[in-house]
Amino acid sequence: MVSTKPDFDVAIIGGGPAGSSMGAYLAKAGVNCVVLERELFPRPHVGESLVPSAMRVFRDLNFLDQMEEARFPHKFGAAWTAEDRGAYDMDFKGGFDNGKGECIAPESHVDIRFNERVQEGVDREYTYHVDRSKFDLMLLHHANKLGASVYEGVRVNSVDFSQENPEVRFKVGRSGRELGVNARMIVDASGRNTFLGNQLKLKIKDPVFDQYAIHTWFDNYDRKVFAKKNEHRDFIFIHFLPISNTWIWQIPISETITSIGVVTQKRNFAKSKQEREEFFWNAVGTRPALRDALEKADQMHPFKDEGDYSYAMKQVTGDGWMMVGDAGRFVDPIFSTGVSIALNSSRFAHNNIIAALEKGDVSRASFAEFENKIRLGTKNWYEFISVYYRLNVLFTYFVGDPRYRLDVLKLLQGDVYDDAAPPVLQKMKKMVSEVEQNEKHPWHKLLGDMTVDAFKEAATI
Ligand SMILES: Cc1cc2nc3c(=O)[nH]c(=O)nc-3n(C[C@H](O)[C@H](O)[C@H](O)COP(=O)(O)OP(=O)(O)OC[C@H]3O[C@@H](n4cnc5c(N)ncnc54)[C@H](O)[C@@H]3O)c2cc1C
Repeated sequence: MVSTKPDFDVAIIGGGPAGSSMGAYLAKAGVNCVVLERELFPRPHVGESLVPSAMRVFRDLNFLDQMEEARFPHKFGAAWTAEDRGAYDMDFKGGFDNGKGECIAPESHVDIRFNERVQEGVDREYTYHVDRSKFDLMLLHHANKLGASVYEGVRVNSVDFSQENPEVRFKVGRSGRELGVNARMIVDASGRNTFLGNQLKLKIKDPVFDQYAIHTWFDNYDRKVFAKKNEHRDFIFIHFLPISNTWIWQIPISETITSIGVVTQKRNFAKSKQEREEFFWNAVGTRPALRDALEKADQMHPFKDEGDYSYAMKQVTGDGWMMVGDAGRFVDPIFSTGVSIALNSSRFAHNNIIAALEKGDVSRASFAEFENKIRLGTKNWYEFISVYYRLNVLFTYFVGDPRYRLDVLKLLQGDVYDDAAPPVLQKMKKMVSEVEQNEKHPWHKLLGDMTVDAFKEAATI
């Protein structure tokens, strides 16, 4: 067979944070790559609050100055609130103590600042909340400026792996004209569209997390309502609701605009038989202070919803391909992890790709380091989230306890890739199991109906 020179070394499907950061890393290293994006940017997208591990990627890609110029709100920390009475209104005498024989009752408000723990490779005390239409456009342009080719308005339909260099077939705009490019390898960064996962039939729906979100932006929502200090105004807030597995995000988008979203289990929404709008306002109504503040604000757009979003893949790399970001895995967004995982996927993967191209071996074995690292990180996230859903009062307790606070913060900062079994997670799981086994424990009645063991299968794949 005569070898032909492919159009590109790497073809990347999708130009969200995973695809554009991959394009940027590869182009910066001189790799001939193309990003194929079906939309014409800017386009709106859910997922607006970052965690500090994203900062390492911005630094690597010389992108921090642009983030500053864009004047995205600085995110110095996070806060969680619950009604003063309700979820935490109980007798704590049988609860866990603080090591000094005193029993700690979780607060109905906890907050944490990122600067409480020094993070290697991160030289700022904050990260950002972003308007995704603007952020994604900026990052895609940045990849382009660094040398990545970018085709927008092209929808990838298929990848033909039967050729020496796989061919990506795509439809152009509304014309429906089909074209193709070939490349030495393919990176799937198509987000929750999971392009290759579908084509190769590798997708496993999460057996437990079946979450559903309704969200929109509000102008003139008073972010001081829940701020204990003025500096909390631009924190992300997670408001617990007294409805099982349901919470609300509050994310600053600009000085006056705030993104608000209700996350619940899909079956809660289906059971309610309500329209999106009614469900949103009923959920918000369980926290009167929040409802009052939102009613005084101006809803800017119709409600949008997102569903069916938790899944894993049997493989995230293969001969001549890999998946990055949501294309490879999606875990619940409670800790604002998605964009950071997407960006860090590229950070970990690009070296493997460059080495594979140099040695002329793009078989799966060349991507093993990336696959192990990303699986470790998402496993830790997943366990953290699982424990949280099983017993969210425990999370508040750990944040409030100086013995565990910084270890929890490490996870919240997105540093989840360097420890196979973070001790704080082991401790949390042990405490959950103690509460599960002791019906008299005051927290027993607060156990959620998502069991830690139930999702082991998806979590370990
Ligand atoms: C309810 C909810 C709340 C969230 N909140 C947060 C949060 O606060 N913080 C956070 O970090 N993350 C959050 N996320 C997660 C976040 O949205 C994602 O993790 C993040 O966008 C992943 O980036 P990505 O590049 O992998 O995928 P995407 O950002 O989805 O980008 C994929 C791109 O691929 C393109 N594409 C898809 N199919 C094709 C095709 N066939 N051909 C060409 N192009 C294609 C799409 O148009 C898109 O632009 C949330 C998610 C949900 C569902």
